Amino acid sequence: MNSTEAAILLERLEAGETLRILTSHRDSICSRKAFLRHCEQHPEWGKKAQALADRNALIAFNRRGNGKSFAFRTHCAKGHPLTPDNVGFKMSNGTRYCKVCNSENVARGKIMTPEQDRAIRNAILTNMRISDIIKPAAGRKAICSYGTYRTARQQNPEFNRFILEHCIEVPRDGAGRRLITNTEALQFASTASRRVVDDIPVYVAEPGDYEWLYSLTPRYLPRHDRDEIVSDIWIELTERRLRREDVPTRVKDLIRKHNRENPSRAYGDIRSPLSLDAPAYMDGTMLRGETVSQSLWEQL
Ligand SMILES: [Zn+2]
Repeated sequence: MNSTEAAILLERLEAGETLRILTSHRDSICSRKAFLRHCEQHPEWGKKAQALADRNALIAFNRRGNGKSFAFRTHCAKGHPLTPDNVGFKMSNGTRYCKVCNSENVARGKIMTPEQDRAIRNAILTNMRISDIIKPAAGRKAICSYGTYRTARQQNPEFNRFILEHCIEVPRDGAGRRLITNTEALQFASTASRRVVDDIPVYVAEPGDYEWLYSLTPRYLPRHDRDEIVSDIWIELTERRLRREDVPTRVKDLIRKHNRENPSRAYGDIRSPLSLDAPAYMDGTMLRGETVSQSLWEQL
């Protein structure tokens, strides 16, 4: 190590860098061995450098914590001082956190997943309000946080363009401006402050959904009729007219409607009666006529 390097090293030690960074890091000045050799050769310099190195090591240790507990740290990982008013307490598990870091994380949000991206686009196309997308409501989770939504708009020009194309900016009640969807704007224009209140969540297709929907349709119907019912349900789901949990009921309605419209294909409907002489059950000899307990006129 030459004298210029020695001077730089001392300078950086005084600035608070640790010996570990200065001797074994990608922007290190020399090896630890060279440092020790220089200390031996220049005892005056070595004494000063060692003292500074010890001081910096202690500060770094306290800053990092002892690896066991947050309580021993004086600074968070990003260097914010952990003063009492900057330490938050998580009630759910009792751990502590840096409030500055936490508010930065909340503001930044997470990276939007492709599923969230798709769900938000569907939500906007089906006339969901922005506030409904980013805030949870009764029986429905928020698609993503405001931070995630905002960061995605800042970082993904294509996503931002989609939002701007489908929304218009209006003055907010208090101050500033907010975005509303185009359909919402039409409602505003036609009847002041009236909006369709719905809390139906955006439909997210899950694997096995087709098989599930298909399984809800009766097996006696021909294949293309079942497909038709499944596709009707699917359209209602994607247009946010139907909840996932209401699907079985809706399928029954559709089957009833289908049977009404196609009496010839229905099985045993009152409008397409089977012969009373047909067997009532798959096994057994009882005839349909023997099972009749209601008169025809009660059914109409
Ligand atoms: Zn912090």
